[in-house]
Amino acid sequence: MSNFLRWLINLFGFNLWQRPPPVGDSVRPAERGALVDHLHSTYGIKLIESDPKGNARPLSVAELLTLRQTLDLLGETWSAPFREKPIHFWIDRNPGGGHYGNQWLRIGEPHDDLSVLYRIFIHEGTHASNEYRGWLYENNWCFKNGLDWRKEGDVWTHPRQQGKPLQSGDWETLPVDSRDVSTAPGEDLAEMVRYYVHSVREERAYLWPLDLSKPPTYLWETSPTRFVFVRDVFLRLPSDSTLYKRLSPALERRAAANLGL
Ligand SMILES: [Zn+2]
Repeated sequence: MSNFLRWLINLFGFNLWQRPPPVGDSVRPAERGALVDHLHSTYGIKLIESDPKGNARPLSVAELLTLRQTLDLLGETWSAPFREKPIHFWIDRNPGGGHYGNQWLRIGEPHDDLSVLYRIFIHEGTHASNEYRGWLYENNWCFKNGLDWRKEGDVWTHPRQQGKPLQSGDWETLPVDSRDVSTAPGEDLAEMVRYYVHSVREERAYLWPLDLSKPPTYLWETSPTRFVFVRDVFLRLPSDSTLYKRLSPALERRAAANLGL
């Protein structure tokens, strides 16, 4: 945890992962403003907290801190391209999922559940990072062994038979079920980054819809190539990152060989 974040948490007197306090309210505007400016200048996340139609709402301090901590965790490579052309980020008073397109990232009303904001932000932000970096997953990586995407005409296919219940076979995959399965490389990437972060942090409660009776790391026994891709290529984590974890030597070798690292 950075000193800055620790300072903020001490300042506001609560743990980020607990239910947020009644928000925003006891915090001085200058302190809140410093956090908003920090998200913009350091991570390229420009908050849109009101609009003429009244759909966008201000973020609570707990939400601001969640974004700050998540951006810090994901590391410099993930958000670096946003600094040049900031993402317009807003929370919609209307409910429902999230969306990224054309430098705008919307999250539907998460109410007081910070885990919703956190999960959707990682997913949609990964779409953004991939797009800002020229769709590196689709163009350079997704067809490698262990990732296994193929393009037939304009249609992406995968031996996992995306959109159907998990089937065994000689391929690696995220062990997700048909409710949450990737149907295109971009979705695959967004989910693999999200699961990577959940699993290395052992956030079992956030693994829905996966099997909560298993440890979060079971994800990576099914897809070591994805694990290493996220760690070493997409996030390019330094080895002192709190998210940097290693698989067994045999799995590390297999993934590195698949990726040509
Ligand atoms: Zn998506």
